[in-house]
Amino acid sequence: MSDPQISIVAPLYNETESFPHLVGRLNAVMDASPLSIEVVLIDDGSRDNTVALMEQLALADPRYHCVFLSRNYGHQIALTAGMASARATEALFIIDGDLQDPPELLGEFYGKLREGYDVVYAVRKKRKENWFKRLAYSTFYRLMRSISYVEIPLDSGDFSLISRRVADVLSQMPEESRFIRGMRSWIGFRQVGVEYERDARLAGESKYSFKMLRRLAYNGIFNFSEYPVKLVTRLGMITFAAAMLYLVQTLVKKYVYGDVPQGFTALLFVIVLFSGVQLIALGMIGEYVLRIFFQTKGRPLYVVREIIRRQERQPISGA
Ligand code: UDP
Ligand code: MG
Repeated sequence: MSDPQISIVAPLYNETESFPHLVGRLNAVMDASPLSIEVVLIDDGSRDNTVALMEQLALADPRYHCVFLSRNYGHQIALTAGMASARATEALFIIDGDLQDPPELLGEFYGKLREGYDVVYAVRKKRKENWFKRLAYSTFYRLMRSISYVEIPLDSGDFSLISRRVADVLSQMPEESRFIRGMRSWIGFRQVGVEYERDARLAGESKYSFKMLRRLAYNGIFNFSEYPVKLVTRLGMITFAAAMLYLVQTLVKKYVYGDVPQGFTALLFVIVLFSGVQLIALGMIGEYVLRIFFQTKGRPLYVVREIIRRQERQPISGA
């Protein structure tokens, strides 16, 4: 089989409940599309029936290509593994495996790609998630926009269609703590957003724990902004200036008015306040140091346990 035009890449972590729906919708998209399409599914160390379902599917249907990771590495790394195995010549369609990103949008996205865009990313018009998550996301994206040194579009996640050359650049970026939507923006070329309504998860629970979401947000902030370090410097300067003014005032009081400096409470307050500020500052710098620490190890980003791709029967030449 020659290489497909499009690879649909979807990471899965314990997605037994949504799996049959996912396959049904993907099949419908592939059957209706004039494009040649393969699907790359990545098992991110699932502990439920997802593995068995994927194995069966990959053996039964040559359009599906399944990659099994050696353990759970997290969504961003799973996506990276999937992109590395995708063989598409034209573009990679990145979706979530829980059908929050409708695969039916492939045609529309592909139309944009043909207009000359290298990245067609989805912009969420409405989220069907609880208010806390919506507020957290919207605050995060707005914060990112104001502090990041690359322009990361508001309310867009990893759901996108990216050209072969963008996928190649992404695969060459050795970043250990990955924030793919930021890396994608960094690459440049022509990029365009398409609005869509993000559906609620079809079945099962979100596999992103609060801790994982926080890690993703930190990766966004500390990998795409120098602002936190600049903020620390600025805070230091402001504190220094304030301390100098206070010193002058104390000296004037003592030598001009003959007052003995008072204010033990104020002193205590200042010590406690700035111990806190210093710890926060250390933590911020620590985040960058941690990233250097992980990156210098130079470990592979993930380990693949197995890849299943059913071999197409090759035509026997000369027979
Ligand atoms: N996922 C993954 N590894 C993880 C967590 C999630 O591969 O450690 C997959 C998950 O199966 C889904 C996608 O990443 O296909 C998005 O995750 P989820 O829907 O849980 O995140 P949310 O949409 O709630 O942000
Ligand atoms: Mg989801």
